[in-house]
Amino acid sequence: KSFDDAGLHPVVLDNVKRCGYAEPTPIQQYVVPAAMSGADVVAVSQTGSGKTAAYMIPVLSNLMGKAKKLCGPRPKYDDPSYNPKFSNVRAEPLVVIVVPTRELAMQIFDEARRMCYRSMLRPCVAYGGLPMGIMCDDLGKGCDILIATPGRLCHLMEKPDLLTMSRIKYTIIDEADEMLNQDWAEELQKIMAGGDSNDDADHTYMMFSATFPKEARKMARQYMADDHYLIR
Ligand code: AMP
Repeated sequence: KSFDDAGLHPVVLDNVKRCGYAEPTPIQQYVVPAAMSGADVVAVSQTGSGKTAAYMIPVLSNLMGKAKKLCGPRPKYDDPSYNPKFSNVRAEPLVVIVVPTRELAMQIFDEARRMCYRSMLRPCVAYGGLPMGIMCDDLGKGCDILIATPGRLCHLMEKPDLLTMSRIKYTIIDEADEMLNQDWAEELQKIMAGGDSNDDADHTYMMFSATFPKEARKMARQYMADDHYLIR
C-alpha cells in the first residue's frame, strides 16, 4: 500500500511527499481509507504511530477539493477601508481537533501547516496560556482548521463574535483518554455537541486514544454513527 493509490487530493499528496512520508504507517493504512469514505472512526493508537497524519491527510484531502466553496471568511485586504486594527473576521472552522496539552496542540498545528501548504485551508491553534490578543488576531485572519485544548475551546465557544461551530464537518478528539483523565468530560461533551447546531447530516467524528475506557466508549456510542470503524 502506498499514498499514491489512496485517492488523495494532489496538493495533499505533494505535501505528504514533502514531509518525507514514503509509505503509510500501519495505523494510516487503516484510518486513511476509512476517513476518506467519510465514516466515523475510533482508533486505539499510541503517540509515535503516525496518528496525526492518519486523520490530517484524509480530512484535508476531502476538504481541499471543495475548499473554494467551503473556506471560512477572510479579512478583505483589498478593500480600501481595510484597517488591520479592526480586520477581525469570525473563525468559522470546518475541522476542530481537540487535544489535552499545548505541546501536542503546537505539534499538531505544525503538521496541519505542512499538510495545508499551497492550499486555501488555514489552520489556527488555541490553548490555555496563549495570550487572548495574539490568538484573536490569528483567528481574525480566517480559520478553517482549529486545533485547541478543551478549556480554551469551550471559552471561545462562549464568544460568538470570535468563533462559530456551526460549520464544523469534522470533530477530532485526540488522546481522548488523557483528556478524560484530566476531567475534561463535560467540556468534551459540549464540543462534540457544539457542531450539531448545523443541520449538516455529514458531520464526521473521529476519536484517537491509547486506551479505550468506558467513558470514551460512551461518547463514541453517543455521537458516532452505528457503523463507525473501530481500529485497534
Ligand atoms: P504521531 O504519532 O502523529 O505523533 O507521529 C509521529 C512521527 O511520525 C511524527 O514525527 C510524524 O512526522 C512521523 N510520521 C507520520 N507519518 C509518517 C509516515 N507515513 N512515514 C514516516 N514518518 C511519519
